[in-house]
Amino acid sequence: MALVNEHFLKLQNNYLFADIAKRVNSFKVTHPKEKLIRLGIGDVTRPLAPAVREAMHRAVDDLGTVERFHGYGPEQGYSFLIDAIIKNDYTPRGVSLEPSEVFVSDGAKSDTGNIGDILRHDNSIGVTDPVYPVYIDSNVMAGRTGTLDGGKWSDVVYIPCTEENGFIPDLPVRRVDILYLCYPNNPTGTTLSKEELKKWVNYALANDVIIMFDAAYEAFIQNPDIPHSIYEIKGAKKVAIEFRSYSKTAGFTGVRCGYTVVPKELNGFTLDGRRVLLNSLWNRRQSTKFNGTSYITQRGAEAVYSPEGKKQVKESIDYYMGNARIMREALQECGLSVYGGSDAPYIWMKAPKGLSSWKFFEKLLYETYIVGTPGVGFGPSGEGYLRFSAFGDRNDTLEAMARLKKWLG
Ligand code: PLP
Repeated sequence: MALVNEHFLKLQNNYLFADIAKRVNSFKVTHPKEKLIRLGIGDVTRPLAPAVREAMHRAVDDLGTVERFHGYGPEQGYSFLIDAIIKNDYTPRGVSLEPSEVFVSDGAKSDTGNIGDILRHDNSIGVTDPVYPVYIDSNVMAGRTGTLDGGKWSDVVYIPCTEENGFIPDLPVRRVDILYLCYPNNPTGTTLSKEELKKWVNYALANDVIIMFDAAYEAFIQNPDIPHSIYEIKGAKKVAIEFRSYSKTAGFTGVRCGYTVVPKELNGFTLDGRRVLLNSLWNRRQSTKFNGTSYITQRGAEAVYSPEGKKQVKESIDYYMGNARIMREALQECGLSVYGGSDAPYIWMKAPKGLSSWKFFEKLLYETYIVGTPGVGFGPSGEGYLRFSAFGDRNDTLEAMARLKKWLG
């Protein structure tokens, strides 16, 4: 008899976006003629950059020749992409990395979800709240979260990020071994300054904490003083793993590519206190369970760093950030409390009149035909908020804001 991993049974039945889809589907049954505008799910809408497409076409042609055929590649990624990552994403920011510290993957969801494989089941975890749900759910699966009570997991330390603290998390009240930070943040669209991030790195250094730093949205940062990488902070290589993604940066949500940096200065410990290089463990984990990102995909990702690629990708980012500005300004004009959208493609707004997240979601859906994402779906401190994504079409964004202005008077 095969016994199941019963931690999976603790997971809540519905994944947030499945829940939204269900409610949107029932709306469509009763309102078949109304034009819905989806500002909910964070998928991109702009096509792949021409430089990326051309590189991928060339890669397909490579695979059609005996000389340039590529079978299984290195599990860690091809050196042409790893070198481009180090040269473009890190060296200009004063961060030096060895190629063996970078692991190319099929995206940040897999890596942020799988990283727990190399850490014991009884580590305590801390998350800023609200946050990208994968951090919590993957730890539920691993048995690290305890039991769910009133929307909170008993063994998770929640670090609230709300209007009251300006979305700047305070140091945790209880000891944690592993801490998830996501900046620019999904869902609040807020960022941390160098000083604020330094506070976290110093805390981790002083308390032997490992920081999982998810920088999937770094390409959207506009303010030159906001750090793009946690390694811009002195000492961070001793305490942090960093996750990056081409999904939102370069429209790779369907192509699938990202990477994770595990510095060789970063140690974990055995129960008897021996130091272990997390880089070696992650390398071993990836070599066993992952067979590499496709050659075609990695050639496409490499092209993001070409001069044309950089220009084209920036055009898409500017387009999305234009949407973010339009939404931020329109919602502010409506008198709503609005956050994010300056250095991130998400707008986080307070529901008017003290409405709950789901109540506001339903009202928007049925009275303006706009789909947002209820903030409470990202954690207990998201209650009373709603997220809009800037990844939509420009005309849809404009129309949605016109509808909202009319609706809110
Ligand atoms: N990290 C955050 C914070 C995200 O919001 C997302 C996607 O929405 C991901 C990671 C997943 O990225 P990928 O498409 O690379 O798996």
